[in-house]
Amino acid sequence: MSYQYDLFVIGAGSGGVRASRIAAGKGYKVAVAEASALGGTCVNIGCVPKKLFVYGAEYGHGFSEAEGFGWSKQEATFDWPTLRDNKTKEIERLNGIYQNMLTKAGVEIINGYAKFIDAHTVEVDGQTYTAEKILVAVGAKPYIPAIDGAELAVSSNEMFYLDKLPKKALVVGGGYIAVEFAGILNGFGVDTSLAYRGDQVLRGFDQDVRDFASNEYVKSGVDLRLNTDIQSMRLADASQADGARIVTFKDGREESFDLILYATGRVPYIDGLNLDAAGIELDKGAIKVNKNFETSTANVFALGDVINRVQLTPVAIGEAMALIQYWFEGASKDYDYDNIPTAVFSQPPIGTVGLSEQEAEARGMDFRVYQGDFRAMKHTLSGSDARCLTKLLVDNSNDKVIGCHMVGDYAGEIIQGLGIAIKAGATKADFDATVGVHPSTAEEFVTFSEGSLKKR
Ligand code: NDP
Repeated sequence: MSYQYDLFVIGAGSGGVRASRIAAGKGYKVAVAEASALGGTCVNIGCVPKKLFVYGAEYGHGFSEAEGFGWSKQEATFDWPTLRDNKTKEIERLNGIYQNMLTKAGVEIINGYAKFIDAHTVEVDGQTYTAEKILVAVGAKPYIPAIDGAELAVSSNEMFYLDKLPKKALVVGGGYIAVEFAGILNGFGVDTSLAYRGDQVLRGFDQDVRDFASNEYVKSGVDLRLNTDIQSMRLADASQADGARIVTFKDGREESFDLILYATGRVPYIDGLNLDAAGIELDKGAIKVNKNFETSTANVFALGDVINRVQLTPVAIGEAMALIQYWFEGASKDYDYDNIPTAVFSQPPIGTVGLSEQEAEARGMDFRVYQGDFRAMKHTLSGSDARCLTKLLVDNSNDKVIGCHMVGDYAGEIIQGLGIAIKAGATKADFDATVGVHPSTAEEFVTFSEGSLKKR
């Protein structure tokens, strides 16, 4: 049986683009279908524009901090449309780069939603395409719980294109997106509340990191409301769809906000794919795959957020590369999800790699913890009371560093290098033998002594 394509990729996000481009470079005839802009969530409504907003928000604190360094007070004002539109221009530039990259690699780009007709056939806008292999890399979409008035909330998708900045905003959730956007809005000067249903934000992170970061968020001006859940939302004035929203909290209190952002997780975006037609099975709403990213239908593969293992761009790219190896070299091996460094671009940012103290405890490990809490040198003059947390976990049985955590400026940058050390199996002795970069926050990680041991 011959097909039109060797590979048909559904979704031109981080994973789909990487798989298409490399497969085409290795001789496959490839098409990729994308209903929206090239680059997927990360480039268009995720990591990239979010990081640009984080940079923008940092200036919100930067002007006042500059005074201690001799700069005279500026009456700084923030113009949201300028940032929003400059951001959009940059994203459009990146879309163009993706287009060139795919075209140069010989990948055919098909605009539109693809749906399965059978295991080897997809349809896009009434046109059918056949392929030997099909890769589903459609990503995820925001999940908003179905409460009364949920339609009055926005998701992170809309945050990148708001007509105007709210005066008063409520962010709901306690994960990456919630704390990042709380920091962004607060930095822009919006009166920002963050409502989380549990005892502490950032479930799954090291407890000291969670406690320290949330304390810093509060110090920076975010009104953090823990153990707070929302009952319903309604318009303050039913004739003003863009007007204030009244939130009723579960304890019965009511409060008005101009904007409500729900950042309560993301779920695989499988709507309309007609997966049944190809016999593709799901597991808890995500496409079920084996270690080679094969779905229950042998010639159909899936990776990235749609398989819901780890919702991170570099992981989707790594999975795509593992799949390429499997296709072209027959290398069948488990993709290594251990020790993935990650950053939360909140203000301050968090960087983390390896085990949290609670995870190491749950594994019954014998380990020690070094921990530092200090004021970064910059803040000796800035007037800011921001502090920084550094934390290192060491396995007592072999001296290996099993976890590094940081809350503070540049944590996202610093953790990348520490990720290499942990991946390479570095010991505390290796860290100690490494010369510090002075003066820096990062040097804390190579100068921990007995005096920094945490009493546990
Ligand atoms: P997360 O899964 O990280 O967090 C979801 C949050 O919403 C949790 O605090 C959760 O609470 C809460 N929540 C879930 N359901 C409800 C509900 N019904 N009512 C109230 N609260 C609820 O999702 P995000 O949306 O923040 O981000 C999605 C993923 O995207 C992340 O997991 C991450 O992998 C990725 N991402 C990565 C970034 C980065 O690398 N910097 C940036 C942004 C996103 P609870 O903890 O109690 O379950």
